[in-house]
Amino acid sequence: MTYDFDLFVIGAGSGGVRAARFAAGFGAKVAVAESRYLGGTCVNVGCVPKKLMVYAAHVADEMEQAAGFGWTLEEGHFDWGTLIANKNREIERLNGIYRNLLVNSGVTLLEGHARLTGANEVEINGQRYSAKHVLIATGGWPQVPDIPGKELAITSNEAFFLKQLPKRILVVGGGYIAVEFAGIFQGLGSATSLLYRGDLFLRGFDGSVRTHLKDELEKRGVDLQFNSDIQRIDQQADGSLKATLKDGRELLTDCVFYATGRRPMLDNLGLEHTGVELDERGFVRVDEQYQTTEPSILAIGDVIGRVQLTPVALAEGMAVARRLFKPEQYRPVDYQNIPTAVFSQPPIGTVGLTEEQAIEAGHKVQVFESRFRAMKLTLTDIQEKTLMKLVVDAETDKVLGCHMVGPDAGEIIQGLGIALKAGATKAHFDETIGVHPTAAEEFVTMRTATR
Ligand code: FAD
Ligand code: NDP
Repeated sequence: MTYDFDLFVIGAGSGGVRAARFAAGFGAKVAVAESRYLGGTCVNVGCVPKKLMVYAAHVADEMEQAAGFGWTLEEGHFDWGTLIANKNREIERLNGIYRNLLVNSGVTLLEGHARLTGANEVEINGQRYSAKHVLIATGGWPQVPDIPGKELAITSNEAFFLKQLPKRILVVGGGYIAVEFAGIFQGLGSATSLLYRGDLFLRGFDGSVRTHLKDELEKRGVDLQFNSDIQRIDQQADGSLKATLKDGRELLTDCVFYATGRRPMLDNLGLEHTGVELDERGFVRVDEQYQTTEPSILAIGDVIGRVQLTPVALAEGMAVARRLFKPEQYRPVDYQNIPTAVFSQPPIGTVGLTEEQAIEAGHKVQVFESRFRAMKLTLTDIQEKTLMKLVVDAETDKVLGCHMVGPDAGEIIQGLGIALKAGATKAHFDETIGVHPTAAEEFVTMRTATR
């Protein structure tokens, strides 16, 4: 049987673009459908605009530190409209780059909502196309609990396009997005509260990291409210919002921002015309090679709900392109030791096992932990502390995990990710000569086990 395309990719986000481009490069006839924005979540309403806003918020730190280094600055004024306009211009530039990347690699770009009409057929803009393989790379969408007044709340999708910087904001959630945006809004000048339903945010991260970040955010004046959950939101006569908590407390604010996780984007995708099944959490069920329960259909990225990170979606996209069209180069994605950063203020960098996970996995654990005031702050009054931590297997000396809270944590942890991938031991860390004077050298100079 002949098909219109060898591969039809639904979604031109991180994973879809990577799979489409490489498949075309391997000689396949490829189409990609995109309904919203080229580059997907990461480029338009995720990693990229978020990081630009983190930089914007960080300028406040730099200005605070300036006096210690002899600089006298006029009182700074921040203009939200300028930041958003500049950010939008940069995203449009990136959209254009993604368009060129696809077109120049020979991929047919179809703009519109794509819907499966069969195991080998996709409908878009009223036209049906057949394909030997279909790849679902439709990403995710913010999930807001079903409470009265939820339509008054925003999510990350809207946060990037607010008309004004809210004077007061309640950020709800305790994951990556909540912690990052609490830092952004606090840094830019909003009175910021972070409400999390549990005892301590960032569940799944190392315990020392979680408590350290809590202490640092409190020092910065973020109002952290743990064991707090909103029951309803009501608009007040003056346009402000009243959040009534489950414990009866009432909080007044200008903006409620929900960052309570992301669901798979399957809206009107036509899965009912196929044999694709969902897992118990509602994500697309795939096997180790990203094949769904319908053999001609594959799925990658956030829509499979494994690890919701751009570099993981990229790796999965690459794996699918190779598996289908260059099998001799196929390598499975290694989900062990994925380095990651939370771009909070200060940021977190982490790779490998947390202390809790290492103990749970039965390792005899040795912990090396250091807390210090970064050199850059010594001429200032700022009392922020950096945390660095190594989790080591006491029997094999293997470093199981590296964790950091402090400036440039994301930059530093990338290299440590390579060390862990290579199976580095604590002796390797000790034998590595430090780069002086840096904060990063602390990772190779921690000699005495804390516990
Ligand atoms: P997406 O990038 O979401 O792409 C899916 C695409 O499919 C979208 O463009 C969508 O419009 C399109 N689509 C959906 N349905 C259809 C349809 N029926 N027809 C046609 N097109 C369709 N990750 C990091 O690694 N680092 C970060 O710093 C980071 N920050 C983030 C910040 C925020 C606020 C958010 C929300 C996410 C962040 N992420 C970050 C996660 C990262 O953005 C995602 O893991 C990544 O984008 C997933 O890629 P994907 O290809 O699976 O999906
Ligand atoms: P996360 O899954 O990271 O966190 C969701 C948070 O919301 C958790 O604290 C969770 O609490 C809480 N929550 C879930 N449901 C409810 C509810 N009904 N009521 C109250 N609280 C609730 O999701 P995010 O939305 O923060 O981010 C989505 C994903 O995007 C991340 O997991 C990450 O993979 C990716 N991302 C990556 C970034 C990066 O690499 N820097 C940045 C931003 C996003 P509990 O822990 O109790 O379940």
